[in-house]
Amino acid sequence: MDGQARILVVDDEKGIREGCRRILAAEGYVVDVAENGSTGLELVKANSYDLLIIDLMMPGMGGLEMMSHVREIDPEMIMVVITGFATIETAVDAIKHGAYDYIPKPFTPDSLIAVVNRGLETRRLRLETKRLKEERDQKLLELASEKSKMHAIINSMADGVLVVNRENQLVLWNPALIRMLNLNGQIEVGKNIEEIITDEGLLNVIKKAYAPDSSNYTSITEEIELPSPEAKTIMVNVSVIRDDETNQELGLVATLRDITRLKELDKLKSQFVAMVTHELRAPVSAIEGYLTAFLTGAAGSDPKMYKQMMERARQRARSLLDLINDLLEYSRLEAKSPVRKKELLDISGIIINTVELLKGQSGSKDLKFEIDVPDSLPLIEADKREMEQLLTNLISNAIKYNVKNGKVMVRARPNKHFLNIIVADTGIGIDAECLPHIFDEFYRVSCPETRYTTGTGLGLSIVKKIVESHFGRIEVESTPYKGTTFTVKLPIKQKK
Ligand code: ADP
Repeated sequence: MDGQARILVVDDEKGIREGCRRILAAEGYVVDVAENGSTGLELVKANSYDLLIIDLMMPGMGGLEMMSHVREIDPEMIMVVITGFATIETAVDAIKHGAYDYIPKPFTPDSLIAVVNRGLETRRLRLETKRLKEERDQKLLELASEKSKMHAIINSMADGVLVVNRENQLVLWNPALIRMLNLNGQIEVGKNIEEIITDEGLLNVIKKAYAPDSSNYTSITEEIELPSPEAKTIMVNVSVIRDDETNQELGLVATLRDITRLKELDKLKSQFVAMVTHELRAPVSAIEGYLTAFLTGAAGSDPKMYKQMMERARQRARSLLDLINDLLEYSRLEAKSPVRKKELLDISGIIINTVELLKGQSGSKDLKFEIDVPDSLPLIEADKREMEQLLTNLISNAIKYNVKNGKVMVRARPNKHFLNIIVADTGIGIDAECLPHIFDEFYRVSCPETRYTTGTGLGLSIVKKIVESHFGRIEVESTPYKGTTFTVKLPIKQKK
């Protein structure tokens, strides 16, 4: 109701109509008049009035009928009834039909103005109330949608979230927290956290955040170990929630992140570095020892002795070089997208050439080599260099871990979808308990038979990586003192 109020006077008596118009216009109101109910109703539909003054007794559409139509159009409309015979019944009837008040005829200008002013004030209040209600409804709607948005976000977080009030009662949490702490079915709003959380470590971090000397910092981050059955490492961040104005603590919010996998990787990395440095140190210090003995003349004056020492130093240097090459190959395969040149290959030639090349390594063992590879094989899609590396590692192991007069057998057999490459030996074999570890980095079986065999423990892990990057599989069977068989299965790309 901004600006001037607009009033409509509906009365079949011209004197009353015009009288009201004059009095109210003099008060500063905009006044329209109508001589009967239906004309009045048309005006109500076409204009927006703040107050109607309606005569009850009119020919055609009477006052009461008009009022019920007006209420349908604008329920907040203030309607003042003019009545010629002011009885209680007519007044009650009019009020029932939505009249705000009534003025009995004849009336004085002052009584008319008083009723109208009161009515307009009520109209103003009614409109204000309506506006506030609409505003509140809108706010509630916004709040509800904000709330559901916040729930959706918190519920889909991978991190666990826990909100606790100053009395240590649970206020909010998400499914990730329930999963992480295995709290199914126990959690309830208002429960004390000490009833719910049994892990001392987590409770301590929460208590620490509330401790008096923690008032300087806004959040604490600590790692905790959850014992079995959860067996997880969790990074907990606890932030105290404070009132903006009073700075008083209201509660706290804890976020929990499962970093078990990261921790494992970190441990593996440290182990890896420790192993590499250990493996590098041994040959270098041996070479240094031989060189020192040579330079200081500590080994006496026998030239044969010196030659032997230099030979050993060369062997150790070679094994060092092998280790470095294996490490380079390993880190190349570890890279996110190693450079790999895959092509359609018939691997038969590569197998035969590799065996021929490695035969010389058998030394004094007098090994027999059996190659059973068809002249041509179905094509596989592979990197040639990696295939050579794979075969070299498997065949040189079959030689290294063989026994005197033993046999090395290399076969290739295509079946329906895979090409099977089998490298078998009649060597020392591998204990059943060691078998699951042989593809691990730096793993070497330690037994009297392998004591003098040099190696890096990286060969089979490289083989496994190559096989997997070619979408294949590797299997191993072994019997101690009888021999070992490795079967590599690579997908056939094209039959010949
Ligand atoms: P290494 O450099 O020690 O040969 P590998 O990763 O190639 O490393 O092999 C891991 C371990 O598995 C070896 O140290 C050895 O104990 C065992 N191994 C591998 N191949 C054979 C085999 N053909 N016969 C017996 N043991 C083997």
